[in-house]
Amino acid sequence: MRIVLLGPPGAGKGTQAARVACRFGCPHIATGDIFRANVAEGTELGRAAQEYMDRGDLVPDELVIAMVMERLASSDCDAGFVLDGFPRTVNQAEALDLRLAGLGAPLHAVLCFEAAEEELLRRLAGRAAAQHRADDAEQTIRHRLEVFAIKTRPLIDYYRHRRLLTMVDGVGRVEDVTARILDGLPAPEGGRDAALALAV
Ligand code: AMP
Repeated sequence: MRIVLLGPPGAGKGTQAARVACRFGCPHIATGDIFRANVAEGTELGRAAQEYMDRGDLVPDELVIAMVMERLASSDCDAGFVLDGFPRTVNQAEALDLRLAGLGAPLHAVLCFEAAEEELLRRLAGRAAAQHRADDAEQTIRHRLEVFAIKTRPLIDYYRHRRLLTMVDGVGRVEDVTARILDGLPAPEGGRDAALALAV
């Protein structure tokens, strides 16, 4: 399965992406995690990305697109992938479409998580306390929500026009949200119950 997860920060994409990827036996590719690993290792990419991340801005398209295209070329993506946090701009979505069209392997589904802003702010404040993420400071959180609204929300229409979009209510118990997601996807081998049992 080739799946994209969209949604504002705090909507639960990361948690659900890991569960869905585990279920379908394909890699969970989280661009934010890749950037954070590069920052921690002090790579050139990490140094280029850090100032944008700390401000809550998007890293420039050319850097993100090159990074994701390289990751998608790995053989573990042959069976599919769950993209978490990419694309975040129409440019990125077009680059992904072009690559997948070239491979004759288009996306199967795009899931967009929804949650009320107060819920997102509450969750992100909790994550800031637990994980000490610099970009989870309150002012930066608000900025990231604005960036989502301006740069990423247009992808909802982009994928709706391509008949790939499913909206997912991201509020509720983690297992219930996973069940809603799997309901909207073609059943994995072993069926939906096996999927729910296997999701970590
Ligand atoms: P995340 O963990 O997905 O919230 O991402 C953390 C930060 O990494 C974002 O606020 C951006 O600065 C950067 N980032 C992650 N994915 C992308 C992307 N697709 N495009 C641009 N910047 C990104």
